[in-house]
Amino acid sequence: LAEKTWRDKRLEMIKRYEEEEKRQDFINEAEIWRILEEKAHPEPAEVREVLAKARELKGLSPEDTAVLINTQDPELLQELFETAFWIKNQVYGNRIVLFAPLYVSSPCVNNCVYCGFRHSNEAVYKRTLTMEELAQEVRVITRAGHKRVLAVFGEHPASDVDYICRSLETIYATKHGRDEIRRVNVNAAPMTVEEYRQVKEVGIGTYQVFQETYHHETYRRLHPPDTLKHSYKWRLFALHRAQEAGIDDVAIGVLFGLFDWRFEVLGLLYHAMDLEREFGIGPHTISFPRLEPALNTPFTTNSPYLVSDEELKKIIAILRCAVPYTGLILTARENPELRRELIRLGVSQTDAGSRIAVGGYSEMEKEHILERQQFKINDTRSLDEFIYDLCQDGYIPSFCTAGYRAGRTGCHFMEFAKKGLVKNFCVPNAILTFKEYLLDYASPRTRELGEKIIEQYLQEVEGRLPRLAEKVREYLARMEAGERD
Ligand code: SAM
Ligand code: SF4
Repeated sequence: LAEKTWRDKRLEMIKRYEEEEKRQDFINEAEIWRILEEKAHPEPAEVREVLAKARELKGLSPEDTAVLINTQDPELLQELFETAFWIKNQVYGNRIVLFAPLYVSSPCVNNCVYCGFRHSNEAVYKRTLTMEELAQEVRVITRAGHKRVLAVFGEHPASDVDYICRSLETIYATKHGRDEIRRVNVNAAPMTVEEYRQVKEVGIGTYQVFQETYHHETYRRLHPPDTLKHSYKWRLFALHRAQEAGIDDVAIGVLFGLFDWRFEVLGLLYHAMDLEREFGIGPHTISFPRLEPALNTPFTTNSPYLVSDEELKKIIAILRCAVPYTGLILTARENPELRRELIRLGVSQTDAGSRIAVGGYSEMEKEHILERQQFKINDTRSLDEFIYDLCQDGYIPSFCTAGYRAGRTGCHFMEFAKKGLVKNFCVPNAILTFKEYLLDYASPRTRELGEKIIEQYLQEVEGRLPRLAEKVREYLARMEAGERD
């Protein structure tokens, strides 16, 4: 009864919001189809012109993006991938930010057709962590060496805004020796401006809400009436409301597999453009999860819009060209071989050593964990194994959160990124946090390889920026002597 009363009250509030919201829905379906149609058969010269524009790092218009979406020729696709790789290196260098997803509460009043946590799905066991259990999860995650988490919540009175705030406080307050989680990003259902102010108050990092699909009819069909997620508008402007409340790092995403991916890529672009228009700043990151099989959830394997590996590669490369300064997040939904390829094409952040069942880190050794997961993940490598593989490909894993603590969020981060400073400033910071990881958490083989990667980088920087290299060497020596952070 309490659950129903809570849901009905929120439904009423969302209905009032829908009537009162003055903002205009910026997803114009007719226009998206028209652009896709107009650019349906681009000439090679036009594709190359767009790729040259992408290298100017100023982003692409929906029309230019549609040219890339409709590019089919394998040779031109190869050029697209090379351009994305080039942009990634220009803006981010070889640094990859790592985080751990942290599922805090899975009960949910909604019935999203594709989600294992949906209310009507009794096959998945759902659970809300107590603050003690949450602290235990955080200790396991910090012990592995993580510094950032993405806290995930179902939409339910048991995980309302007060619970979310208490969770953030608990995560920040939980120490493991001298280590702690330094940034808590959140993926939770849309809230009111007032509720966003509360989560801002307790130190939310980036706030994520995925539109799932930008196609109105599909959205309404997959999120049944009388559920809180049925309102397209409430969700579409969730991040605008978050910005209004002062949360300046917001993150958008599409669940690929629900509708035509070509339409969705333009939907993401229009969303980014509207945030930029109103707040002077686009999304901090974009996520592109693919629909994964979930227990007792036939839609996840039957959808006619499932996206192939080749299409996913194309999506990431196009996004890298269209929004060069926006972080792109890849998750452990994808298998190790594919992740390796996708990272090359423009990914700047990824999770590792992930468990996506509530309580999954503390109970890692237990069986039947599948019955608690939201969906199935395909990369089950530990954080250490993942880092070893990343280093073998020449990347520097980063646990750095210094930028945020120095106030580089929202517009400040974008200005910083646009000056090309992520590459020259964040990479050294990445090295310092990586060194912490190597000293405190790494296996012997990862430590050995990691030290080599750091040395390689320092030798490369010494030629270009000798003072910087010297400074980094000095900090590394202090770390060896026992200092941290
Ligand atoms: N309940 C909140 C919401 O829906 O916004 C946040 C948590 S929800 C568990 C986080 C995300 O999981 C959703 O936005 C959706 O994109 C993703 N998701 C749901 N079902 C999925 C599936 N079967 N495969 C992959 N991702 C899925
Ligand atoms: Fe609930 Fe989110 Fe799953 Fe929908 S996607 S059922 S809102 S947890």
